[in-house]
Amino acid sequence: MKSIYADYNASYPCSEEHLEELFKRLKSSWGNPSSIHSYGRDAKHAMEMARKNIANLLGSERKNIIFTSGATEANNMVIQGLLTSQKYLDKPHIVYTATEHPSVSQPIETLQQRGLCQATKVTVDEHGEVNEEALFAAIKDNTIAVALIHVNNETGSINDICRLSKKLKQIKADLHVHSDAVQSFGKSDLTWVDQSMLSSLSISGHKVGALKGIGCLWSKDASFKQALFFGGGQESSLRSGTENLPGIISLGLQCQKIQKNPSLLLPSKSVYQLLLDEVCSISGSKVHSNDNTLGNTVNFHIDKVEGEVLMLQLDMNGICVSSGSACSSGVSKPSPVLTAQGYSDWVASNSIRISLGAGSSTGDVKQIVSIIKQTVQQSPPV
Ligand code: PMP
Repeated sequence: MKSIYADYNASYPCSEEHLEELFKRLKSSWGNPSSIHSYGRDAKHAMEMARKNIANLLGSERKNIIFTSGATEANNMVIQGLLTSQKYLDKPHIVYTATEHPSVSQPIETLQQRGLCQATKVTVDEHGEVNEEALFAAIKDNTIAVALIHVNNETGSINDICRLSKKLKQIKADLHVHSDAVQSFGKSDLTWVDQSMLSSLSISGHKVGALKGIGCLWSKDASFKQALFFGGGQESSLRSGTENLPGIISLGLQCQKIQKNPSLLLPSKSVYQLLLDEVCSISGSKVHSNDNTLGNTVNFHIDKVEGEVLMLQLDMNGICVSSGSACSSGVSKPSPVLTAQGYSDWVASNSIRISLGAGSSTGDVKQIVSIIKQTVQQSPPV
């Protein structure tokens, strides 16, 4: 049975070509970038080339990129750095959207529970876009930062972070506006970022066809940055530990390819449209986003059909998709993203996310939809 991968938002596979190129590079660039001998210098050179390629996609410079183990670490570095800074004597206040990834919402909520900050969670509309009035109204005298996810990983909904960050800075000039851009980096033009009012942005390698365990934080502002790890002083003492050179080179190579072909990671428009049309044609189905998406994600539920049953049938037929509900430690909970969009616990527990990539074909979509339709026909009403 040929498997069909339709979970590109979870992890984007490395292409054969990428792995071959990467192995070739690693044969000559394997040293420790901190060593002063020629192997170290080669490794350092490869690392700085990669940093430049990443910065290019943000219209920025090498010095504004800090390598991390992924976006979880980059998001934590920003949130913990801001909220535990000695700069703010009283409890600082942070505003975040109800659809942030847990690597943003959980550090905020943990620090809030420990009494170290105040926080306001801002609602979103039924399509997952932040409620702008509530966002602006949440800014108080002691608000130091706003976390505003760019493209949502579950639904693909987009927040206009360029316009919103500008507006937020007009309300309070010294606000730090952070955006988790994991799902948009490499899939949409972000070369305007350096010139924007955004203060920091996080990205992850394995969402763009690079290796896992690499990500980075972009920021022009040094004042908020605080190390989470201490040791050898790598990354300007902000991220001690020998750099993940394979991951860094891999991410750099992908960025170089994306710069040459900005739609490298996206499915064709017709394949995506076919998926959307087919899903909408299923009786009782409801898609949880509007047209404002990158054209790769469809998150939906089907009335009275359990998500688990759909997932199981798809899996048995070799089709890899994702459940809309957050699953941690094997316990599936209603998706906080869909709950925030106003859906019931049942919907938020029984939704499916199909996310496509450049490798997705019309045949894949037809096969996925055919299994869904068969399952719906065979499902006893709940
Ligand atoms: N933010 C978003 C929007 C994500 O989709 C993910 C990965 N699921 C992360 C952050 C965390 O990224 P990483 O796996 O690199 O830690």
